[in-house]
Amino acid sequence: MNGGSWRRYLLGVVRRFGYALLLRCPRCGRGPVLSGWFTVRRACAACRFRFDRGIDGYFVGAGCLNLVVAELVFAVGLLITLLLTWPDPPWNAMLIAGIPMMIAVPLLFFPHSRTIWIAFDMIFHPVETHDDDDSSEAGSGAVDDSDPSTR
Ligand SMILES: [Zn+2]
Repeated sequence: MNGGSWRRYLLGVVRRFGYALLLRCPRCGRGPVLSGWFTVRRACAACRFRFDRGIDGYFVGAGCLNLVVAELVFAVGLLITLLLTWPDPPWNAMLIAGIPMMIAVPLLFFPHSRTIWIAFDMIFHPVETHDDDDSSEAGSGAVDDSDPSTR
């Protein structure tokens, strides 16, 4: 890739993450990804991009991302509290605040973990025609991953 195509590629990646933060389809930015706080739509209503890419367990990575974010929020909060209150940290208050925080953060971040995961996956797994909902349903243009002899 030359400099111009790298810049265009990076702008595309940044744009996809921007759409993901807005809970919009990372491919087109128009359709909503979720139909409820915990429910990912099957496909984009605008461009028909299939959000699970047709892969069983696709959102396991989103669950891991959600866990990592919750742990990071806890670790940063712990570090800031220790730095601000050392040498006498409020251990009991930290315990009382930390437990509900570790429950609330994954619940609050759940929708973004899904959309950010899709945008992240698109970096390593570029969109192809079989990622569209209509082609995978009809079978036209779909890649059959079940037969290893075709690879
Ligand atoms: Zn879309």
